[in-house]
Amino acid sequence: MSELTVLKFGGTSVADAEALQRVAALVGRAHRTTRPVVVVSALAGVTDALLAAAAAATSGNAERVGPQLDALLERHAEIAGRLARPEGAGGIRTVLGRARGEIADLLERLAREPDRRPALRDEVASYGERLSAALLTAVLLAADVPARYVDARHCLITDETYGRATPLLPDTEQRTRAELAPLLDRRLVPVLGGYIGATADGVTTTLGRGGSDYSAALVGAALSAAEIQIWTDVSGVLTADPRVVPGARTIPSLSYAEAAELAYFGAKVLHPKTIQPAMDRDIPVRICNSHAAGEAGTVVTALGEVRPGGVKAIAHKSGITVVQINSTRMLGAYGFLRGLFEVFERHQTVVDVVTTSEVSVSLTVEDAGSLPDIVAELGPLGTVSVESGRAIVCVVGEGLRTTPGIAARVFATISDINVSLISQGASRVNLTFVVEEARVREAVHRLHEALFEREGVDLDAAAATGAP
Ligand code: ADP
Ligand code: ASP
Ligand code: MG
Repeated sequence: MSELTVLKFGGTSVADAEALQRVAALVGRAHRTTRPVVVVSALAGVTDALLAAAAAATSGNAERVGPQLDALLERHAEIAGRLARPEGAGGIRTVLGRARGEIADLLERLAREPDRRPALRDEVASYGERLSAALLTAVLLAADVPARYVDARHCLITDETYGRATPLLPDTEQRTRAELAPLLDRRLVPVLGGYIGATADGVTTTLGRGGSDYSAALVGAALSAAEIQIWTDVSGVLTADPRVVPGARTIPSLSYAEAAELAYFGAKVLHPKTIQPAMDRDIPVRICNSHAAGEAGTVVTALGEVRPGGVKAIAHKSGITVVQINSTRMLGAYGFLRGLFEVFERHQTVVDVVTTSEVSVSLTVEDAGSLPDIVAELGPLGTVSVESGRAIVCVVGEGLRTTPGIAARVFATISDINVSLISQGASRVNLTFVVEEARVREAVHRLHEALFEREGVDLDAAAATGAP
């Protein structure tokens, strides 16, 4: 039997009729040679609009964002009118009509039922992917691809952490196989919305913003796919965020460890949790450009290819807060760090980077929502200081394991920028540090120039010759 591949299309890959037509051609081509499973995000802008509507409804202002949301929902019908068969377009109009009524009802409940808000918000957000998957199914059928809509909430089973739910792996694997294997056996092409799941009781959940990549990886792992393809609006993972470094270039290959670090520290092209399910099953992840399918993208595998110069990419993440705890009680004491991290755990606040000295601990958090309470609870442990407006910069490459002098080059390049919280060695493929948010773009620019542009190493030529 032919190989199974998961193809995930992001919001900009299905933004309009032209984009959907390109997707239909890509899925059609994949169907001729493999058994594709399609995972699709909401149309560009729809999740933002749904969440804005939910927020407005919570504060009793639903009507303010109504027209914008309506226009975005209407786009599904317009595209179906252009690309689907008449019966398919009719079906989308029916689904859309029903969805409008249900969303209006949910928005009303958001104002009335404060206790249920997190679950209601996820239910509202889920319409983005439910509608895009229904639309793409109709478009594929019109292109003679035997597509079948699958409700992803029957496959991805999660806990009840609304807004950023954690999948329950055995249930998810079993349910995904049970839903999809019969379709695949009949050579049908399942189409699922990404980002959404449901609790064991069937209550809708979401995996967190950008979570469709993660959905694709979970589905790929459940089915032991030959490859997980992430189709997006750039040609693979680039040497830096192209919005900051316009000259950033495609990285031909990455190890799982490199890709995970980049995704975790800000490379938006991959949701941070995408790599783990693929790595567990040793499934290659390929990142490709749906707007330029001919361009080579990036392939992520277990192979840790080392690039000349050692560094493969620079990621960065703004909106970071640094917390420092000073205490002489830490000296030679055990249990101190446990007590400290328990405070963060109680407030469900994720800590990203940690460094310690004899008498102090510095760490970073992205979600500062619970910081006032955290700082109050840390008080008995020592003197606490908080610095907001910081950014993490992360220099990544398998070559960091073996190439001497990279740290010296990095810090010499930005010697006039104040650097704190330097962390190297934990994963052995990254060098991570904190700078002021106001200077992070400049830091990334200069590092990219020094590490990729000035030294004249041609990444593409190295990849083409297979040179290490
Ligand atoms: P999708 O809608 O396909 O999921 P996203 O917007 O989530 O796409 O991710 C793609 C975007 O990620 C790119 O358009 C780019 O602006 C951003 N990005 C940030 N860092 C990187 C990087 N290192 N390589 C590629 N893209 C990056
Ligand atoms: N539609 C969701 C979001 O905008 C999930 C995704 O696009 O991956 O966050
Ligand atoms: Mg994304």
